[in-house]
Amino acid sequence: MVVQEVSRRPAPGHGEQGSTDHLACAGFCRDCGREHRLLPGEAVGYCLRLMARLEQEGRIDFARPRSEAEPRFSTAPLFGPERGKMFGVLVCRRPDGSRVVLRAFSGQYGGAWEVEGWVGPLFPVSRFEEASRATGRRIKALGRRIDALPAGSVASRLLKRRRRRLSRVLMRELHGLYCLVNFRGHCRGLDRVFLEPGIPTGAGDCCAPKLLNHAARHNLVPLGLAEFFWGRENRSATRQHGRFYPPCASKCRPLLGFLLCGLEETP
Ligand SMILES: [Zn+2]
Ligand SMILES: [Zn+2]
Repeated sequence: MVVQEVSRRPAPGHGEQGSTDHLACAGFCRDCGREHRLLPGEAVGYCLRLMARLEQEGRIDFARPRSEAEPRFSTAPLFGPERGKMFGVLVCRRPDGSRVVLRAFSGQYGGAWEVEGWVGPLFPVSRFEEASRATGRRIKALGRRIDALPAGSVASRLLKRRRRRLSRVLMRELHGLYCLVNFRGHCRGLDRVFLEPGIPTGAGDCCAPKLLNHAARHNLVPLGLAEFFWGRENRSATRQHGRFYPPCASKCRPLLGFLLCGLEETP
């Protein structure tokens, strides 16, 4: 995957017009037969402010006073073995013309899907966790039975096949809970939106899908989106602390055409 980046320094307003084009949030839309895109615009500046805040506070639960901060929402783990994370900002216009700045983190933070002041995931959290728990328990129980059997035995092979089937069932069940809404007001499941065969784990959990879905559901018009990485560089060294990146190619791009659809026609 080609990673394009800009250095952290050039603030918005500096450099040439359109110098953040390579960070565009874009994807092919099957309904329209073409690509839709959204440029970073003012979101870059708001990302820089968010970086300053993360640096200053060392936590993400800003909505609470420091005395009530939860240890699991500290940014310290991002610099340890767990490594860093992507953060995203979406600048939007409300129906009354005023601005609102949404922010999101990719995946879960400290084991939580929902943190006050941050945009949530694309599925109902309680149902998602219930499904993962119930089927997860059955998968683990099968694992214990497999461990107790001689490796390579017929019984072990059969149980392994059963475990694989169960994992696929769980995956489908979890994907079925995602509901994506776009700016035409269309609402579709992950399996109907994703452009490629085989939906990768974590698809729909990155910043861009969370932010765009939230905006579409709340009648907000996106004006700019930007994402940056915060913390220790990832294992493959494709993400560096404090740098900007476009939404990822593997999990996000196949969703973005649908999610951005209808945006160009909004006044
Ligand atoms: Zn992504
Ligand atoms: Zn479209």
